[in-house]
Amino acid sequence: MPEGLLERLDKGPLICAEGYLFEAERRGYLSAGEFVPQIALEHPEVLAQIHRDFRHAGSDVIQAFTYNGHREKMRVIGKEDLLEPLNRNALKIAKSVATEPMDGLPDALIAGNISNTNIWDPDDPEACAEARRMFEEMAGWAADEGADFIIGETFYWAAEAEAALAAIRSVGLPAVMMLAPMANDAMQEGTSVAECSRRLEAQGAAVVGMNCFRGPQTMWPLLSEVRAAVSCPVAALPVPYRTTAEQPTFFNLNDHGNCQCPAPHGRTFPTALDPLYCNRYEIRAFAERCLAAEINFLGVCCGASPVHIREIAEACGRIPPAARYRERMENHFMYGSNERIPEAYKALGDRA
Ligand SMILES: [Zn+2]
Repeated sequence: MPEGLLERLDKGPLICAEGYLFEAERRGYLSAGEFVPQIALEHPEVLAQIHRDFRHAGSDVIQAFTYNGHREKMRVIGKEDLLEPLNRNALKIAKSVATEPMDGLPDALIAGNISNTNIWDPDDPEACAEARRMFEEMAGWAADEGADFIIGETFYWAAEAEAALAAIRSVGLPAVMMLAPMANDAMQEGTSVAECSRRLEAQGAAVVGMNCFRGPQTMWPLLSEVRAAVSCPVAALPVPYRTTAEQPTFFNLNDHGNCQCPAPHGRTFPTALDPLYCNRYEIRAFAERCLAAEINFLGVCCGASPVHIREIAEACGRIPPAARYRERMENHFMYGSNERIPEAYKALGDRA
């Protein structure tokens, strides 16, 4: 039997690349705003390559791209009939990449994925019941297609996260539960993120933590409270954007007046965030901070690029296949130290 989620985490950090919505959009295969992962049906070869690139950069987990691939979202776009084929295809693609030979790496773990339904309403029992049914059917397909565990993520209602956890537990797979509070720093019921995490652990989550919405700077304060509140492994998968205390999530992050061509829809999210991007060293520094605090389930969410994952892998002491292509500035034509580079060209560097 290959080692499972908890056995791998017992031995040290585990890396899980996320951010498939933004990466598929950036490559031109998914519509921003709508954010439905039809790529699993329409361009399976592109999705497989994204998975492959993240694995090559150091991801230990291939997360099936079923984020937003739930019944409600498929109703919004009028394609409910594609729901089950989309889920099953995404899981099959994840499995195929997780198990293909790559530079002598062990097989990657396969994660199923369920997420916020955007219909949860504590005052509407029927809406909550529908959300539970959506979780159950998706968890069932993930188990059926051979997922090693299921990630439940970007929950901003505590009760919705608990319902998702129950659905994952009901199919007998370990659950990684990640919360994503809005700018008020708490779950929508008013429960703190730490308290919600503590309850999820008590209800059987294998890993709890946070993902998406927040960059490293504004995820950290809440994340460190989560770490102090639980004894299970903790997950940290921020977005690679420079969120601030005034603008703690990427939904309302502004470009501080530097933008000459603002997005026609009036906000930087989700298509004009580029100038607010974290560089790879910021992501590495965040990973190192997490490791020092014993936060061991690491990755990057929307906006992630394979180079971010490579930095995290190297921060964990790994040498992923992509390490072979890390920067070699010594051979640059102006800034290099290589003896073949003429002094005149080195001097040009300051005036370039
Ligand atoms: Zn995200």
